[in-house]
Amino acid sequence: MTRRHMVGGASLGLAGLAASATPSLAQDKAQDKAVTAPKPLQNPTTQYPQPPFKRQTQPWPGLASKMDPVPDHGETSYRGSGRLAGRKALITGGDSGMGRAAAIAYAREGADVAINYLPNEEEDAQQVLQLIKAEGRIGIGIPGDLRSEQFCQQLVAKAVEGLGGLDIVVSNAARQQTRASILDVSSEDFDATMKTNIYAPFWIIKAALPHLKPGSAIIGTSSEQANDPSPELYDYAQTKAATTNYVRSLAKQLGPKGIRVNAVAPGPIWTPLQVSGGATMEKLEKFGGATALGRPGQPVELGSIYVQLAASDASFATGQVYGSMGGNGTP
Ligand code: NAD
Ligand code: MG
Repeated sequence: MTRRHMVGGASLGLAGLAASATPSLAQDKAQDKAVTAPKPLQNPTTQYPQPPFKRQTQPWPGLASKMDPVPDHGETSYRGSGRLAGRKALITGGDSGMGRAAAIAYAREGADVAINYLPNEEEDAQQVLQLIKAEGRIGIGIPGDLRSEQFCQQLVAKAVEGLGGLDIVVSNAARQQTRASILDVSSEDFDATMKTNIYAPFWIIKAALPHLKPGSAIIGTSSEQANDPSPELYDYAQTKAATTNYVRSLAKQLGPKGIRVNAVAPGPIWTPLQVSGGATMEKLEKFGGATALGRPGQPVELGSIYVQLAASDASFATGQVYGSMGGNGTP
């Protein structure tokens, strides 16, 4: 395989590969030049939308396509370089937000990708699946509710069957609903948050483990909330502390088996979770304004971190939590 086939974003699909069976050296050189051409420095404070944001609400879990501004998941910007060629990844919450950014980046890095999402997120999910397939990769959509242990087991089985194996598990889906007081958190709320954020990774990792060979990677999505919980996120924040904790525990348990376990800890990121009950309207208007960069992050800004933690050249990284918080907080 020539370098030309390894690089590029929405570049070559399977059809493209077949059609270019006789690569020309001149074409290769032109492609190399495009990749290494100097790019202008960008100021991160003005690179993406800044507050104030329009007040907006959607019913949980929300759609990225209906947000204003629409989040950037790397659809037009993420360029791969073959870092995950041949890998097989399952990503929960792969329809939007960080999961979608990871799905796009993984496909562009050469991985086949299965995504899970809730049935009413089909519209967002179809956009992601199209982008995965545009890379010539296998893209599988497996809708369903992670609060069911039986579904979590089926999810892994379907992913393994559809991908022909599994070596990257990104447990990223979560429920976040803002409540001013603990008195407003119903037992149903508390249960739904725990089931989605703590039980589902437990069930999914248990089901996936028999399939994971040495060299495989498990990645959780934690949060700045793990160490600096907001008063109105009583139930959610403690699940993120649990995520950081299970990642560190499992890293020790699975290290000897050659399976790495890490987490990404985002700060405020512009995703549907925030506009579908995750944040108050007051918080949303100023969203990200208190960070050192003065704005929220976009999912695309975390895509390369999910790649890094999955890639085999990060072979000494396990039990780590990589933050992306815009200057505040600690992972
Ligand atoms: P998002 O809304 O785009 O993604 C969350 C996804 O979780 C949804 O797309 C949905 O598919 C999935 N989900 C929720 N409940 C589910 C259920 N019962 N069954 C199946 N799927 C379910 O939002 P996001 O912000 O990208 O969230 C991704 C991760 O990032 C979460 O773990 C979240 O805690 C974490 N995070 C987000 C922020 C932020 O500011 N957006 C900050 C820190 C951490
Ligand atoms: Mg979604």
